[in-house]
Amino acid sequence: MAQNYHIGIAGAGIGGLAAAILLARAGHRVTLFDQFDVAGPVGSGLMLQETGLAVLGTLGLREDVEALGSPIARLWGISVDTGRSVLDVRYAALRASLSGLGIQRSVLFGVLYAAANASGARLVTGTRITTANPESGMLVDAAGGAHGPYGLVVDALGVRSPLSSAPRKELAYGALWATLPWPEESNFDRLALEQRYEAARKMAGVMPSGRLAPDAPESLTYFWSIRADQYEGFRAAPLNHWKDAARRLWPETQLLLDQITDQDQLTFARYRHRTHWPVTEGRLVHMGDAWHAASPQLGQGANMALLDAYGLLIALTGAEDVSAALARFRRLRARHIRLYQLMTWAFTPVYQSDDAVMPWLRDRLAAPLLRLWPAPPLLAGLVAGGFGAPLNSLGLKPYR
Ligand SMILES: Cc1cc2nc3c(=O)[nH]c(=O)nc-3n(C[C@H](O)[C@H](O)[C@H](O)COP(=O)(O)OP(=O)(O)OC[C@H]3O[C@@H](n4cnc5c(N)ncnc54)[C@H](O)[C@@H]3O)c2cc1C
Repeated sequence: MAQNYHIGIAGAGIGGLAAAILLARAGHRVTLFDQFDVAGPVGSGLMLQETGLAVLGTLGLREDVEALGSPIARLWGISVDTGRSVLDVRYAALRASLSGLGIQRSVLFGVLYAAANASGARLVTGTRITTANPESGMLVDAAGGAHGPYGLVVDALGVRSPLSSAPRKELAYGALWATLPWPEESNFDRLALEQRYEAARKMAGVMPSGRLAPDAPESLTYFWSIRADQYEGFRAAPLNHWKDAARRLWPETQLLLDQITDQDQLTFARYRHRTHWPVTEGRLVHMGDAWHAASPQLGQGANMALLDAYGLLIALTGAEDVSAALARFRRLRARHIRLYQLMTWAFTPVYQSDDAVMPWLRDRLAAPLLRLWPAPPLLAGLVAGGFGAPLNSLGLKPYR
């Protein structure tokens, strides 16, 4: 017989908030913990795919995010070494109505946060979780406070979760990110995420990222790939040193560079790649980046966290007990996770590394081959998050 549980969710990020809404609405008693005192994530823009949007659709939030995001029809990257288009993914190659959505992280967070508050879930802020006991279902915070016991404990603490013990593989590269007002006089494609590469050592990107509010100006997110060990040098040097390099790679970004007057406007994110196994232990389950973190090369992390949240709901629905539900959750999500972890791991050095061979092959062999059928629809399916049929396995349909 289906049961309602008292569920403790550690982490009120994208995955934790979505899980809280779904589980509270399904009648479970949900308590959600986060270390932040005042709600609101730091960071820049991100891209939602049909997978994540379909989950937001089941939450009744798709229209809200679509109203504030920017539709993205194409991912388009040019190698400045050869002048060739070496990445050209058009969603319409798979389905005419398909697109991604660029959105500011704080906007997505705000929409989820408001829905979580309205769902009946209890949010406890200012609480840094340090340990969980998978057998008793207790959570412990940094001040020694014990919370629970819970019938189910969800680790949604993100990439640095103290509850996930797997080694964190730091990638050599990360990126500097800034969200900026869209300059009226610029020629960037309003429907494309554009990138420029020099081998795989240099990369800059411009992504439409919607607006903060219906009447706020349109924004874009600019990113610059940088080796983590060069970040301190970037901070210490005059800003113009970096601007000169950024302008040389992509002269049209001058209008964006003009808006950056201080290093602090650029947020540095170092990328990590890791997958935590086992994904469940006793009453504890890991989800989102706490289970599977990857570089944002394929732009899937937030979408994966949303799918995990929906997977938890489906797994708990009608399950005999927590252990049966968690076994079902693993079955529902593991294949898709494995596939995308592998593909992100394979793609990352092609665009961000010191390797000389990979970008050479990318520019001269892969780029022309990827224009030939069936590569265009396959690439669109890959970027839309559809490999491994994650929506089908959760009984979800693409929205349109
Ligand atoms: C620069 C960058 C660009 C990205 N671009 C994209 C993109 O385009 N598309 C995409 O889909 N994904 C993207 N991602 C990945 C995406 O942001 C993550 O995969 C996603 O946020 C994971 O969601 P989550 O809920 O697992 O973790 P998070 O959203 O990181 O949430 C974790 C939460 O846990 C809280 N927390 C952490 N530790 C503790 C603790 N000890 N105690 C209490 N609370 C704690 C944090 O405050 C946070 O609220 C990007 C990531 C980066 C860094």
